[in-house]
Amino acid sequence: MPAEATPGQLVIISGPSGVGKSTVVAGLIERLAPAIRLSVSATTRAPRPGEVDGQQYHFLSAVEFNARREAGDFLECMEVFDRGHWYGTLYEEVRPSLARGQWVILEIDVDGARKAREQFPEAVSIFITVGGETQDERDQELERRLRARRTDSEEAILRRLDVARREMLLANTYKYQVVNDDLEATIGEIADILAQEGLEA
Ligand code: 5GP
Repeated sequence: MPAEATPGQLVIISGPSGVGKSTVVAGLIERLAPAIRLSVSATTRAPRPGEVDGQQYHFLSAVEFNARREAGDFLECMEVFDRGHWYGTLYEEVRPSLARGQWVILEIDVDGARKAREQFPEAVSIFITVGGETQDERDQELERRLRARRTDSEEAILRRLDVARREMLLANTYKYQVVNDDLEATIGEIADILAQEGLEA
């Protein structure tokens, strides 16, 4: 009889908008695939220029999202910003991979992370943050990065900053905190954490 695959681990990565989370995660996947893959979340927000359905997100209409929510298809889902955009993790993005022994990264906000940890208490949780001695310095650095991205309106930037400040106060509820000052160093640091947690890539 074939041996059962050892189930994969769930890796939860959060961090404020603008911290460079997506770039770090893309670098990690490039380095560690196929041992680990990124769960593609579903969202009701519109694609940004260059974003492709099924790659960065599954872009769903509010009606489709709600139907899947009612069907119980989401591991976690929520309205992330106060403007009515929903984000969520579909079970089908996670369970089949874990059963095959593949690790799965969830790149989600702090509230989604809390819900995911309730269901997967053994998950490896990592908070990516910016450097700075004080909360003020960290806020300024985040604002600089968000503005440099040039993808959001002024109103969206201010809203994201407000959410980011609250998220940063929850960093210590994660098992690991990693400061993203240098992209390659950050990717290396997280790869080391995952190896220490048992990922064989
Ligand atoms: P963005 O619109 O910039 O791509 O993402 C906005 C926020 O949504 C980020 O903070 C990101 O972590 C969060 N997010 C993305 N996917 C999910 C998800 O599946 N669930 C939850 N709860 N948050 C998510």
